[in-house]
Amino acid sequence: MRIMKFGGTSVGNAPAIERVVHILREAYQTDGRLVAVVSAMSGVTNQLIAAAQTAAEGDERAAAELQRELLERHQAVAAELIPTPARREATVARLADLAGRCARLVESVHVLRDLSPRAQDWIVSFGERMSAVLVAAVLEERGIPAVPVDSDKVIVTDDHFGSANPLLEETRARAEAALLPLLEARKLPVVTGFFGATPKGAVTTLGRGGSDFSASILAHALEADEVWIWTDVDGVMTADPRLVPSARTLPAISFAEATELAYFGAKVIHPRTMQPAAERGIPIWIKNTFNPEHPGTRIGPDTSMNGSVVKAITAIPGVSVVTVEGSGFLSVADVTARVFETIGRTGVNVFMVFQASSQHSLGFVVRRTDASKVLRALEREFELDLLKGRVARIWEEPGMAIVAVVGAGMRGTPGVAGRVFGTLGQHRINIVAIAQGSSELNISFVIREDEVARAVPAIHDAFGLGGSPAD
Ligand code: ADP
Ligand code: ASP
Ligand code: MG
Repeated sequence: MRIMKFGGTSVGNAPAIERVVHILREAYQTDGRLVAVVSAMSGVTNQLIAAAQTAAEGDERAAAELQRELLERHQAVAAELIPTPARREATVARLADLAGRCARLVESVHVLRDLSPRAQDWIVSFGERMSAVLVAAVLEERGIPAVPVDSDKVIVTDDHFGSANPLLEETRARAEAALLPLLEARKLPVVTGFFGATPKGAVTTLGRGGSDFSASILAHALEADEVWIWTDVDGVMTADPRLVPSARTLPAISFAEATELAYFGAKVIHPRTMQPAAERGIPIWIKNTFNPEHPGTRIGPDTSMNGSVVKAITAIPGVSVVTVEGSGFLSVADVTARVFETIGRTGVNVFMVFQASSQHSLGFVVRRTDASKVLRALEREFELDLLKGRVARIWEEPGMAIVAVVGAGMRGTPGVAGRVFGTLGQHRINIVAIAQGSSELNISFVIREDEVARAVPAIHDAFGLGGSPAD
């Protein structure tokens, strides 16, 4: 059994969906037991979030505009790819119903002037609901007995809205009940990616880019043999090809390396995807919908030793460095403990931590959009200490980026850090902070965001990772 997931670009317009249908038809005819997982059409999730936010801010037209735009875009594909009138009309009616339900939710956000994480998750799930209906209908039109399946009936999660955690045992029972009968009947389930639901049925999302994670959760639940993630590049590459045109595809990497790469910014795969698959030793292939002959990347238990110590360079732009500077009156241990307790309460994800104990300063890196929340919480926690001068100041430096150099071969290989930092020096790129990757799979550091476009290609070159674009 294979799980095949198609990303936003792969279902982004009629020609792309044509390719998806072609790929699924071939797979369905060869081994039958196949589950498809689809993302929302590219840009739709952003559009849903934006509409919900502007509605909450008071825009009374947001819901109606969203409804019209969603329907227009999906309907256009149906018009192009579903010539049979009855099927086309039934599909458009289903799409219209979904767009209407979504708009009513956005409307209620407008009335309440409040967008809770719970409401947002429910609203954004409509992108995937609509694409699943559309893709399944096009498949049916081409003679493949596809059935759209809403994942809130299949994937069970906790109630951590916005980035929920799957409950794998409960999911297994639901997935078997919902999907096995379809597979027995030789149907092709087209499951919505990105979301699940709590045991009580509240819709939850798995974090941005979470459809990859959905595919691997389903693979775990159904004990699939392989997961295939179909995207718009030839696999996991030595760097983001948008940043480094000479980047090459990595033929094979380990689950741990893929997790590290994804965590440090390689958008090609959601960082949590590897965990359920790795638990069952299920390999994940990353393949290109627009170049399906390319073998892509295999992510599995082992690392391929392709001779290079460093496998890839990644970057996370849009982060801030937040620093708490003590004055020496408080112990470093005390400040550290309180800082982390405070951040922990905010639920914000910290990418990196560094400490210069001589100055009693503790710095950490968070997303720019999380920084003010963290700052406010820290200012509250240290209010008295700031007043009494026991803590000198707490401040944010925005406009930063994390760059990570990743590869399992780095473990115990001397000179990697030297080469990384030497290269940055030659290019006169200032390093704001350095953190030691505790896994020894990476070296990560902070630079100014506007230097990423120079830093990543320079390090990529220094380790000889590039090839000619034809490689
Ligand atoms: P999908 O919509 O299919 O999930 P994404 O946009 O989430 O696709 O991820 C694919 C994109 O990831 C590519 O277009 C590429 O620009 C970006 N990317 C970033 N880093 C890497 C990398 N190391 N290898 C491949 N792609 C990368
Ligand atoms: N549509 C969702 C997003 O844009 C999930 C995904 O594409 O994987 O984040
Ligand atoms: Mg993605």
